[in-house]
Amino acid sequence: MDEVQSSNMEPAAAKYTLNEEQEKKDIIRHYRALLKGLRPKLKKGDKELLRTAFEMSANAHKTMRRKSGEPYIIHPLAVAMICVEEIGLGVRSTICALLHDTVEDTDISLEDVEMEFGIEIAKIVDGLTKISGVIDTNTSQQAENFKKILLTLTDDPRVILIKLADRLHNMRTLEHMKREKQLKIASETVWVYAPLAHRMGLYNIKTELEDLSMKYMEPEAYKDIAKKLAETKRERTRYINEFVRPLKEKLQGSDFDFEIYGRPKSIHSIWNKIKKKAVAFEEVYDLFAIRVILNSSPEKEKEDCWKVYSMVTDEYNPSPERLRDWLSNPKSNGYEALHTTVMGPQGKWVEVQIRSKRMNEIAEKGLAAHYKYKEETNSEDRFDKWFGQIREVLGSPDSDGIDFLQDFKTSFLAEEIYVYTPKGEVKMLPTGSTALDFAFAIHSAIGTKCIGAKVHHKLVPIGHKLRSGDQIEIITSNKQKPSEDWLNMVVTAKAKNKIKDSLREEKRKIAEDGKYVLQRRLEGMGAAYSNHNIEELVHFYKLTSSLDLHYRIATKFIDLKELKDFQVLGDKIEIPRLKPVLTEHTTDQTPQQKFDKKDSELIIFGESSDKIMYNLAKCCHPIPGDDVFGFVSTGKGLIIHRTSCPNATQLLANYGHRVVKTKWAKNKEISFLTGLSIVGIDDVGVINKITNIISGDLRINIAGLSIDSKEGLFEGTIKVFVHDKEELEELVYRLKSLSGIQTVDRFETEN
Ligand code: MN
Repeated sequence: MDEVQSSNMEPAAAKYTLNEEQEKKDIIRHYRALLKGLRPKLKKGDKELLRTAFEMSANAHKTMRRKSGEPYIIHPLAVAMICVEEIGLGVRSTICALLHDTVEDTDISLEDVEMEFGIEIAKIVDGLTKISGVIDTNTSQQAENFKKILLTLTDDPRVILIKLADRLHNMRTLEHMKREKQLKIASETVWVYAPLAHRMGLYNIKTELEDLSMKYMEPEAYKDIAKKLAETKRERTRYINEFVRPLKEKLQGSDFDFEIYGRPKSIHSIWNKIKKKAVAFEEVYDLFAIRVILNSSPEKEKEDCWKVYSMVTDEYNPSPERLRDWLSNPKSNGYEALHTTVMGPQGKWVEVQIRSKRMNEIAEKGLAAHYKYKEETNSEDRFDKWFGQIREVLGSPDSDGIDFLQDFKTSFLAEEIYVYTPKGEVKMLPTGSTALDFAFAIHSAIGTKCIGAKVHHKLVPIGHKLRSGDQIEIITSNKQKPSEDWLNMVVTAKAKNKIKDSLREEKRKIAEDGKYVLQRRLEGMGAAYSNHNIEELVHFYKLTSSLDLHYRIATKFIDLKELKDFQVLGDKIEIPRLKPVLTEHTTDQTPQQKFDKKDSELIIFGESSDKIMYNLAKCCHPIPGDDVFGFVSTGKGLIIHRTSCPNATQLLANYGHRVVKTKWAKNKEISFLTGLSIVGIDDVGVINKITNIISGDLRINIAGLSIDSKEGLFEGTIKVFVHDKEELEELVYRLKSLSGIQTVDRFETEN
């Protein structure tokens, strides 16, 4: 849902200095720009339709303003503009974009839209309305909504494209939101929307969504990288020019119609590299890529790309394992290109991307451009295939909220590998797929009977991870049947669902025995095997279904001895007033924190400002002063995580409703355990100097210290008790200023 503010609630307009006349002019200016962008696509009557949509939307949103104070209509206009300029959508999509928030937030009904613009547009607007609730409500609701989006998406991909434009504009204007809201929206964006944009082939939008999310979730790292990129720009430009010069001459000599330029990589991708490889900014070599775009005819484009590849590798030596040929096998989001990494001047590796103009348009505008060319070439449609696979998974009755989202992400939003059947038929599977995934991809009957596989004629177990180019033969046995651990061996949603189906079937068979046992026990007590009695027992044993009850009786997890404490009234049983018996599912008790909690040093802003019991997350070990949020867990109360915690994105995106705003209060009595790792030049007095600063100067308690030295360098870890982030920062600063110390970093202690 978009942030709306009714003008009669708060004088938001006051923040906005423009007067109404000026605002009107502004709105008209946006509208004209939109028309201008659409001009080449306008057919007879389109202009009138657009005008109607614009007026309808402007009227409906008339009294509303965004958090920024702008008139609300600026938002649908901006979303429409993104659809036109950045995604390349046409008139009908533009109309939908203009109307996308009307049915949800204003008096306009779906019937009004249908009456004015017909069923096609009404359907898309309906899809957009349903989507807007997705991640805002509780999790099970969310799964249902997400499935709905996907169904609408596979009906008409324009829904998701417009939704992405909507999200992009909201991200671009996120600065006006409150911090909590920013974190939540940014998390959802990296979690769901950026991968979707990637899958739709919208690389630019995907990149911008990721960069914007990072700007709010990791503001310091973002600013740091942006600053360093700006500082090194001149040097980079000089290098790119040097690299490109000889290639340009060769290309001109061969009469190619081409463009060649260097393009910086996104802040988010640079940051990922820094994190993944644990290197400094200065050590990330691919801060940019060189792009060669050829204006070649469709018949000659592949050949030309290879010719250019050969010119590039004549000049610079390629790294053989870094050739990516997406000409022969395009990605399923439609991406086609040739990538190679070569050794450039000064011994630097440089990535070169070669593609035709047509391929470039698909790379930038994704799905929309793809459909445009599809009509011309009538090529096999990878999107249709993908949509087909999604529909198949949606058809399965199973899969609850988060699991479903997770499965969907790994099955449909991941990068892909290409593998072959023994007959040479190509199958596309998400990265990380195993022999078992492959077996299920061929047929579920083959999957459930799979006992192993041969990859390039070599025998491998069912959990063997496949790689692009593998040729796989599945070995089956009629005696085989799926087990619980198979679920950990597959990544595709199809395999997961089929395994779950088959496990459920198996469970049902076993449960039959339990049902029989229970029936006899109840009859022996003079009670009936009735719905009422079954429900009582399900409740008593804290289970969720009669199937579970029967299954547990059959497998002897429940021995029914508690039944003797039940009273029988008529044919009904009644739960005894004794303490409830726990099943094997005893929830483990919250381990006590090692420090005293009597004076809670945490203020929770929520329904009340009462001090609340909490626990510190084991995954990120927050200390006072860290940017944190509280997460209401089931059974363990409130858990405090750092916003930079590796689990934060997933928690904020999926369980937004369980996140509470938390803030540290000053407390000097209680100290928290945290750890530092130090790297420096080995020198006799080093330990002495370090301990002097810690316990001497700063009077901080040391919980542990270990130093390893090799080849003139030492690496040490120190565990200390600090009161808050400030104190920790002071310590880090003092240690860093010691001579011979190279790095001092905080790390997560394992208690
Ligand atoms: Mn919107």
